[in-house]
Amino acid sequence: MKVKHIDHIGIAVKGIEQAGKFYTDILGLKIENVENVADQKVNVAFIPITDSEVELLESTEPDGPVAKYISARGEGVQHIAFRVEDIDKALEELKEKGVRLIDQAPRKGAGGARIAFIHPKETNGVLVEICERD
Ligand code: ZN
Repeated sequence: MKVKHIDHIGIAVKGIEQAGKFYTDILGLKIENVENVADQKVNVAFIPITDSEVELLESTEPDGPVAKYISARGEGVQHIAFRVEDIDKALEELKEKGVRLIDQAPRKGAGGARIAFIHPKETNGVLVEICERD
């Protein structure tokens, strides 16, 4: 598979408004926009840095995956996403290699991306996402 670069780092936060201040006021970066991803029960704030982004993930529901993550492990880095050239091919290759996946097929992520998660047991505890976007 062809991995192009780190697409984004997903950070679980209790609130985008409060957490965003470090990135804007201290680091001088900009929150480009905030998007609701209904099936993940999150609001996502995009903070671009060159060809990557920091994504602040704020749960919209107490039973959402980000809320569960925070109650188990606290706020912090939740996943790392690698941009791939062709996600269908990448998933096929991962399956051939016997890599355990959370998503067997790509699903819709924030910003119009097609995404899939690899099981953290395969990656020494890091939740890895692969994503493809135009
Ligand atoms: Zn992501």
